[in-house]
Amino acid sequence: MSTNLLDLDLAAVAAFCEQLGEKRFRATQLYRWIHQRGASDFDQMSDLAKSLREKLKGCAHVSALPILSEHVSADGTVKWLFDVGGGNAVETVFIPEDDRGTLCISSQAGCAVGCRFCSTGHQGFSRNLTTGEIVAQLWFAEHTLRERRGGGERVISNVVMMGMGEPLQNYSALVPALRTMLDDHGYGLSRRRVTVSTSGVVPMIDRLAQDCPVALAVSLHAPGDALRDTLVPLNRKYPLAELLAACGRYLEHAPRDFITFEYCMLEGVNDQPEHARELIALVNGSAGERVPCKFNLIPFNPFPASGLRRSSNAAVAAFAKLLSDAGIVTTVRKTRGDDIDAACGQLAGDVKDRTKVGERMAKLRTIPIQPVP
Ligand code: SF4
Repeated sequence: MSTNLLDLDLAAVAAFCEQLGEKRFRATQLYRWIHQRGASDFDQMSDLAKSLREKLKGCAHVSALPILSEHVSADGTVKWLFDVGGGNAVETVFIPEDDRGTLCISSQAGCAVGCRFCSTGHQGFSRNLTTGEIVAQLWFAEHTLRERRGGGERVISNVVMMGMGEPLQNYSALVPALRTMLDDHGYGLSRRRVTVSTSGVVPMIDRLAQDCPVALAVSLHAPGDALRDTLVPLNRKYPLAELLAACGRYLEHAPRDFITFEYCMLEGVNDQPEHARELIALVNGSAGERVPCKFNLIPFNPFPASGLRRSSNAAVAAFAKLLSDAGIVTTVRKTRGDDIDAACGQLAGDVKDRTKVGERMAKLRTIPIQPVP
């Protein structure tokens, strides 16, 4: 059986090379060729002994994901649709800014969490991506974009695990992928510039703190359990008090001294002044110990099946002001790539739902959303 080397972090490449009777420094050379120089052909790897290259050809490969489409937005955002087999396709988005290049990566084909305002959630769930399929999105984007710019400079400075899927429900594939992103012989990204975004899988937040602490973003979207239960169904399992306590524990290990709370602004649902006041009380905690945090308000990108509407700019600005006046750093996410459906919450790919999530979401759409009392 041939091993896709994109599935392996450096320690695993070292173990693989050892099995071939090779020294550890050969593993480092091989890993650097793949991730730093974008090589997939062993014959290109000129400083590896010919005998090793021949051995590798017999038992290993470096496989990118087949591309189904590429769209480039007027603002420079690029969206790729990758084929992951079995009728499933996942999306990856590159967002260029003056001082950074951010890649938004998918972790699953579909998602089982089923958030009400999310395109991916409405499609159901097919399967977890492998480590290689997660890393392949970065490998392809970095080296393709670098080549288009004439080589040289690194293009991707930031990664956000915010594409399709709940990354902490694919933990065993996620962690080796993060290690490759962080490794100085891989992509050498700073822990502060790699963000895992979760809807709140509390036990896995604790494990990530131990295994590979990177920046953490939490999809909050509601200030109380009654409303959050209807928007983020995982809340019924891990309610807000448990989630906020996990955020506090995570901060003891995190590379940043705050958690980013993502908050999708839904007209008439969670965007009223009383919601902002309840949010402030929530993060301040009953004992007055504020969870160090920043809020990122996300203008909702409507899609027909959601039955939800985007909050007005005035409502978003008023909400942001209430949070800011309470001393909470608050930003409003700029909508990027919405002309190519690459904006936040619009990633849809193609998912062959193997669960009842799609069905459940269809039923959910008929239930009125619970307002905050
Ligand atoms: S917001 Fe994230 S966790 Fe929720 S359904 Fe969409 S992909 Fe899944």
